[in-house]
Amino acid sequence: MAAWVNPFQTAGRWWRGNLHCHTTRSDGAVGVEERCAQYRAAGYDFIVITDHGIAGPVLAEQAAGLLVVPGVELHPDNPYGGDIYHIVGVNVRESIAAERLSPVEVLRAVTAQGGVAIMVHPYWSGHQLSDYTPLAGGYVALEIYNHLARRLNGTHNAELLWDAHLDRVGAVWGTAGDDAHGGPEDIGGGWVMVRADRLTPESICAALRSGAFYATQGPTIEGLDVATVGGAVEFSVRCSPAARVRFKGRTYTGRVVEAPTGAPLRDAEYRCTGEEKYIRVEVIDQAGRSAWTNPVYLAQVSSGARD
Ligand SMILES: [Zn+2]
Ligand SMILES: [Zn+2]
Repeated sequence: MAAWVNPFQTAGRWWRGNLHCHTTRSDGAVGVEERCAQYRAAGYDFIVITDHGIAGPVLAEQAAGLLVVPGVELHPDNPYGGDIYHIVGVNVRESIAAERLSPVEVLRAVTAQGGVAIMVHPYWSGHQLSDYTPLAGGYVALEIYNHLARRLNGTHNAELLWDAHLDRVGAVWGTAGDDAHGGPEDIGGGWVMVRADRLTPESICAALRSGAFYATQGPTIEGLDVATVGGAVEFSVRCSPAARVRFKGRTYTGRVVEAPTGAPLRDAEYRCTGEEKYIRVEVIDQAGRSAWTNPVYLAQVSSGARD
């Protein structure tokens, strides 16, 4: 396993982006320019427009303070027993005939263009681990929060699948996205904060590949320290005011730190027992909104950290 690079301690800054939205080019209710205006007004730095089956540039990129990254949502058949896949390709400029390709070929085609593949709304699709195991390595992330699915039928949260993947298949990052189809009610429910020194489609893709981002519905993660102290890996997180902080490892490992009565948490710590395999940190605010760090595998930090 390659050594883990902590995005909270690398050069650059945080950029706020939505990785998943639609326009009238496919089944969205508003056009490209209005969609961009909505996200610009909401304070985003970038968006990825991911119309169904329609790739390619959508506007002059970097239009008026908002980077518009080309993207696509693709729907290859699923030969592994589940419903069809919904795959978001970030930075995909050439069309991909997904209906005529296997899901493995679709993922390769996204990557071959310099793009990044995200498996979106797994719960809404009714997917299980067996739908992902044959494709592992072809995508970088699971969309663990899909804002539209909350409104549709409450299938917005894919953390159960994420943890199963992290334990039994391997590392995969977690994104949040609006999947905006409609009007303003679809905007600003879930996004990513990407760490990069500049804002380009390529720098966003590099950060998505390396896990240099976190997903959120609102809370801010201000810092994350991971160090080996006295032979055990210790996690320390700083965040916006929180009701609880969850350090989640495999199966039953990890713990929840609750805010003391009347005082929100601004930081929390966890000392690993060694059973966890990985830890991902979730910050939950008073309104029940979450922010999720990407997982850190203990095997990647136990060597090379200070002791
Ligand atoms: Zn979809
Ligand atoms: Zn979508």
